[in-house]
Amino acid sequence: MKAQAKLGWLLFGYGMAVFGATAGAAVLAAPGIVPARSGGVKLAAACLIAAFVVGGLSFALAATASRRLASLAEQAEAVRLHPALHAVELPGADDELASLARAINALKSELTRGEETRNQLVADVAHELRTPLAIIRGHLETMLKGAEELKPENLVPLLDETRRMSRLIQDMRDLNLAEAGRLQLDRAWVGIAPTLQEIVSIMEMEAEEKAATIRVEGEWDGEVYCDRTRIKQVLVNLIGNAIRYAPEGGAVTVRYAEEDGTLRIDVADNGPGIPPEHVPYIFKRFYRVEASRSRASGGTGLGLAIAKEFIEAHGGTIQVASRVGEGTEFTVRLPVFPLQP
Ligand code: ADP
Repeated sequence: MKAQAKLGWLLFGYGMAVFGATAGAAVLAAPGIVPARSGGVKLAAACLIAAFVVGGLSFALAATASRRLASLAEQAEAVRLHPALHAVELPGADDELASLARAINALKSELTRGEETRNQLVADVAHELRTPLAIIRGHLETMLKGAEELKPENLVPLLDETRRMSRLIQDMRDLNLAEAGRLQLDRAWVGIAPTLQEIVSIMEMEAEEKAATIRVEGEWDGEVYCDRTRIKQVLVNLIGNAIRYAPEGGAVTVRYAEEDGTLRIDVADNGPGIPPEHVPYIFKRFYRVEASRSRASGGTGLGLAIAKEFIEAHGGTIQVASRVGEGTEFTVRLPVFPLQP
């Protein structure tokens, strides 16, 4: 029974009780009102019994509701203190109190999930920082012992590791902002062809080091209303990964086109591909198919997670298609002009 209905019955019951008791008392106190005294007494007694029965029922209903409420309050407090250990259980009617219990349990699940994510994040960041810190410490200790000279070239690895840590911290900051929906997008009309050319000309040096080629294919000379810096960061990441995973002498192709008010960009390589069992996870933070290779190439393991958040913040999508031994293709779709601000 719904709590509102219960309350109605409760009020009705109390009304009846008061009415019955008053009527009964009046009959008993004024025998002259009722001609046959014995009949009057019977009526008064019947009214009194009715009043007690209805009053008793109402009291029982009120007592049950109040007991369930007290139990709910107690369990909610236990959930607040230890969300991972407790859940609210409220046997009885499927009323508003039961809905409240379900809402508390849903809140508890969210709390627990949030806590697990936080713990996992702290563990991941600690793990990511441990390696560069160990390298820096190792080098410094060897230098202090005099086993390694304090020469500029011996300082280069230390500088690399501090750069990696700075990038990791910056990436974490961007990702946190994006995940909390607090990423400020500084949108303007951006020409996509010149932006892609600019990125590719910067990355060509990296490709040349492994004799890989980067080709840009596309005819569209339109503009997209987006945050240029963020979109550039996504593309640098995707093209950077494609170069990194392409084989010696491999090929990276960047295609772009307009499709029904959406800009589509494909970044394809002929690298080793991603095994299908890893594909569902590669946009998760710190997920790597081969941790050692990613770290050796300077990756923070956050590039794709950031790419996904940035593209989704623009109202777009990012997908991956990959075949082991053949290559990988990432597809970004961005609305030319977003309907949402
Ligand atoms: P990382 O800093 O490790 O590159 P990303 O988030 O950019 O982090 O990528 C996550 C993982 O996805 C990489 O470690 C790698 O295993 C896989 N990956 C990304 N791009 C490619 C690609 N083009 N070819 C093969 N694997 C890729």
